[in-house]
Amino acid sequence: MQVVRTIPLMREARARLTGTVGFVPTMGYLHEGHLSLVRRAKQECHHLVVSIFVNPAQFGPGEDYQRYPRDEARDLCLLEPLGVDIVFIPTPEEMYPEGFCTWIDVTGPLAQRLEGAFRPGHFRGVATVVAKLFNIVQPHRTYFGEKDAQQLRIVRQLVADLNIPVEIVPCPTIREPDGLAMSSRNTYLSPSERERAVALYRALLSAQEMIKAGLRDASQIRRQMEDLLRQYGAKVDYVSIAHPDTLEEVERIEGPVLALVAAWVGPARLIDNLLIKP
Ligand code: AMP
Repeated sequence: MQVVRTIPLMREARARLTGTVGFVPTMGYLHEGHLSLVRRAKQECHHLVVSIFVNPAQFGPGEDYQRYPRDEARDLCLLEPLGVDIVFIPTPEEMYPEGFCTWIDVTGPLAQRLEGAFRPGHFRGVATVVAKLFNIVQPHRTYFGEKDAQQLRIVRQLVADLNIPVEIVPCPTIREPDGLAMSSRNTYLSPSERERAVALYRALLSAQEMIKAGLRDASQIRRQMEDLLRQYGAKVDYVSIAHPDTLEEVERIEGPVLALVAAWVGPARLIDNLLIKP
């Protein structure tokens, strides 16, 4: 496994790979969610590139860029046995040198709602870094978690609109035994907050139960989800019952919907989602 920190060296190492190349972009502090993407990529591609880059451009002012958890040595130990060929770990200066001034903005309702509304500029940072990484790594396939449902759709849009020759492979959300979606940000939680963090998944399951029981009024479901989150002491940013493709809010449930939630548990802003079929 080769660790590469500059763009020219990454290009050189990439040029030596023959056959299909799978790529898993991450911000590091790896957990089973990330590793499930890497294992899937390993099954489907001849070679594997993983990037670790806490992208400053996708954090807003006052967000957790500085305190985002980082442990490169541990990450490399986790990746080594999985048959990764190259780990790309650029510095912020390598990715955004002085004079950097080109940004990719996914416009339209998809990027403005939900995370886009609560984290202005977030998806601009995501789209820009993902496009840069695709240009540097030039993968055949790239693996993204359904955990970040809106990000996945935005990356699809970016790849379609800019004709980037890469296949996007969505991968299911990996959860802790109690249902909490794995996330590097779960490390912010104290033991009692960690217990209450299951609220997000519970709210999603309650939406599923209501829909399976025949409830079709989405606003009623959203209200119940909010109530449940508050009972756990979570501070709700949004709950959404949305169309799975456009992520536009649904009023009457007539087909599959994506339930999404973002909420604060103590110092941690957590997100989760669940695809629900009536
Ligand atoms: P991050 O390091 O948080 O930027 O995540 C890197 C990739 O891992 C993204 O495609 C995420 O959607 C994915 N990911 C993060 N958490 C999970 C999870 N619990 N299950 C599946 N994929 C995940």
